[in-house]
Amino acid sequence: MSTNVVIVGAGVLGLTTALILSKHENLSIVVVAKHMPGDYDIEYASPWAGANFFPVGKPGSNLQKFEKATWGELDRVCREIPEAGIHFQETVIYGRKKDAGTATGDWFGELVREDAWFKDVVPDFRVLGKSELPDDCDTGTTFTSVCLNTAVYLPWLLGQCVKNGVTIKRGILDHISDAPSHHPNGHASIIVNCTGLQASKLGGVEDQNVYPGRGQVVLVRNEPGVMITVSGTDDGGDEATYIMHRAVGGGTILGGCLQHGSWESQPDPNLAQRIMQRSIDLCPALAPKTGKVSELSIVRHGVGLRPMRKGGLRVEKEQIEGNTVIHNYGHAGYGYQSSYGSAWEVERLVLESLKGNGKVKSKL
Ligand code: FAD
Repeated sequence: MSTNVVIVGAGVLGLTTALILSKHENLSIVVVAKHMPGDYDIEYASPWAGANFFPVGKPGSNLQKFEKATWGELDRVCREIPEAGIHFQETVIYGRKKDAGTATGDWFGELVREDAWFKDVVPDFRVLGKSELPDDCDTGTTFTSVCLNTAVYLPWLLGQCVKNGVTIKRGILDHISDAPSHHPNGHASIIVNCTGLQASKLGGVEDQNVYPGRGQVVLVRNEPGVMITVSGTDDGGDEATYIMHRAVGGGTILGGCLQHGSWESQPDPNLAQRIMQRSIDLCPALAPKTGKVSELSIVRHGVGLRPMRKGGLRVEKEQIEGNTVIHNYGHAGYGYQSSYGSAWEVERLVLESLKGNGKVKSKL
């Protein structure tokens, strides 16, 4: 007999979790979600991400553990499965001491360290010499990272789940306890909550520590030749510059900002102008003929709300109204780079819950 599992949410966390759990025989898995790959909506963070692997977890934190674990799988998928839409990118990170204590400076605190914990995780890590730094930067590192094309990667993840027998369906839940009714058998032993920012509103969860971290981006056709970030700008403590060239024709993401607590879904044209100008200033290869914003070929402007959480991401088990719920949300600006580590922790919690009843076998 199989054990029914309902996963709520089809963002990168819901789909990665479904993929990992689908490798176990006798788990009958349904993913139910309001938004699916292909949708662009302010309630759906995953399509808006760059997305790359820029580790920011503090040593000893769950985030750091999950990021470290995730690198190995992103590296493997990148090497072995080109159709997943991930490629390796030469990466440059610049830090400015004056950004310490700002929204973006705090966010990138670990990323900009010259003795970063991930220096032995990613390949080719090297500290830049003073002569290699822009005038206004104090630190710099370079390494090889990855950039994912979310428009290709999310459908690929979904396809892998379907191939492994996962049922995918649309649905809107008012309460987490409604999840079992979405399984064809009408009941579920385990619910996995991957609702991202909506965990702040979903009945039975209503996590008041969850709030939006607004990010605005511009997607352009121009190619930068390198993935590059600076910890802050002089235009405001919640703005930073980052440039990511997506794999397989995905264009280049120019960012960005981290606006704590803002639910604004519409792009701010002035911020867009600043993002584009700063990107060209940092990376002249984006506009080699004129050095002007008008040389950028814009695909779209975008806004996504990162699912921030005071106290950090939440991957843990809770009993709610007699249901076993495993939460997996609150991944802020690092949902892709911590996705596999988080999903493996959910897997561990699922196996722990089912231990002893002999119901779960690995297909591998
Ligand atoms: P979401 O993608 O928001 O998915 C939530 C899912 O739950 C959706 O399917 C939704 O429909 C469903 N749902 C919610 N409530 C309900 C309900 N009541 N009923 C039914 N379904 C429901 N991360 C990185 O690792 N690297 C990056 O480079 C990066 N860049 C980013 C850039 C920007 C501009 C932004 C905004 C984010 C970035 N992130 C990045 C962060 C990353 O995008 C998020 O951490 C991640 O997408 C969160 O995924 P999620 O699955 O938790 O949530």
